[in-house]
Amino acid sequence: MLIVDFHAHAFPDAIAERAMPALEAEGDIAAVLDGKVSSLLSSMDAAGIGASVVASIATRPSQFEPILRWSAEIASERVIPFPSVHPDDPQLAARVHAIRDAGFKGVKLHPYYQDFDLDEARMRPLFAAAQDCGLLVLCHTGFDLAFPRVRRADPLRVLRLLDAFPDLRFVASHLGAWEDWDEVERHLAGRPILMDLSFAIGGIGPARARELILRHPPEYMLFGTDSPWAGQRETIEEVRRLGLGAERERLLFGANAARLLELGSAAAVP
Ligand SMILES: [Zn+2]
Repeated sequence: MLIVDFHAHAFPDAIAERAMPALEAEGDIAAVLDGKVSSLLSSMDAAGIGASVVASIATRPSQFEPILRWSAEIASERVIPFPSVHPDDPQLAARVHAIRDAGFKGVKLHPYYQDFDLDEARMRPLFAAAQDCGLLVLCHTGFDLAFPRVRRADPLRVLRLLDAFPDLRFVASHLGAWEDWDEVERHLAGRPILMDLSFAIGGIGPARARELILRHPPEYMLFGTDSPWAGQRETIEEVRRLGLGAERERLLFGANAARLLELGSAAAVP
């Protein structure tokens, strides 16, 4: 079976060596890998993962170009980079089009690390451009363990965003909203809204995760791990233990991602 990790992270080697210890301290969390692409690929081999989305986060506008360049360097059949745009970038729409024109399938956003609210006016040109050019938007949703519990990308904001941009290919991370799953059950579950499963099952608990996933349209659920912050093999096992059934597993582990990312056949053979 094709398995795609729709939510993973890595850094250029030199940056990984500096950034990983700082991020571990900030989030009070131990990473499973060292943050390098080579380690992610070894982890994918060990777990039987065909391809991973490697999501970058621009924490300043000036990081757009270096992230775009590095993303082009690491891109392959198995490494699908999603570059990033900072909300304070004066050329939001042009940046989004540059990502698409360079052949990438998506962009990654993080409301806490990039200091924005999902439905604020400043973000509209970015989402309008992503909707226009069909670029996927993988966005951290829900709270974040490294930040105060102020709602910046919660389920109600997701609904407002998708009201304004109904054709936006938006993916709500962490099973709709990390540690805000009451709101996910209330507002998002069962609707045609893409979600990834990264870093969620342990928090919400397997019984409730199973129920929520089974309520959701099967074509709108994506496997993800948040590697290096969780183990890829361990997360696969965690999902398998939910007993979702063969067809749901086929879709969420790989078929949905293959459709969205237009993956070639090479990714199917790890
Ligand atoms: Zn993440």
